[in-house]
Amino acid sequence: MGKLFVISAPSGTGKTSLIQAILEDSAATNTKLGISCTTRKERPKEINGVSYFFITNEKFKDKIKNKELLEYAEVYGNLYGTPKDWVLSVLSKGENVLLELDTQGALQVKESFPESKTIFIIPPSYEDLAKRLELRAQDSNEEILRRLKEAKKEVNVGKDFDQIVVNNNFEETLNDLKQFIFRGLKPSTARQDAVNKSLNLLLD
Ligand code: 5GP
Repeated sequence: MGKLFVISAPSGTGKTSLIQAILEDSAATNTKLGISCTTRKERPKEINGVSYFFITNEKFKDKIKNKELLEYAEVYGNLYGTPKDWVLSVLSKGENVLLELDTQGALQVKESFPESKTIFIIPPSYEDLAKRLELRAQDSNEEILRRLKEAKKEVNVGKDFDQIVVNNNFEETLNDLKQFIFRGLKPSTARQDAVNKSLNLLLD
């Protein structure tokens, strides 16, 4: 059996770029990224069946009824879920699976697969997160405030995940993640101190 990893992070923490870089590593040939189903609209540059499987509400409800999903959750008003068969077939081939889920989904996976490893990426502070969301220029001010409020809820759940890493420096954070996923190693004491410092700020 392969290993199952679930990565969650508040929106704007840099999760997608980090995951992309993890998968580009030569050690990742045996690691596959899950493709979720969602009812949200396709964004420009997204490809159906690559970024997500874009499906209707009706089809999503059928998948829930037929127990085809390993987990599912509503995020920002849209439904997202992980196809169960795909995950099981990859794991049974001895390959590792990486899932990028919100914290609700991560908890559901942990419940069905207690041996899975949940990873939570935190920003250094909410000020830093707000700056990143503004720089990304993807959302309105109102949407940024909504994402910051949501981030607080996510941190309250993610603080208990198996491994927390802080994205205060892309290369160092990437190294923390690769060490944990590919070698089962914990971050160095200095990196762990940085996590604790940020967690204190975020949980204040
Ligand atoms: P986006 O719409 O920006 O691609 O993703 C929004 C949020 O949904 C992200 O936090 C992402 O991690 C989460 N997400 C994506 N796929 C799934 C899934 O299959 N299940 C759950 N629970 N969350 C997902």
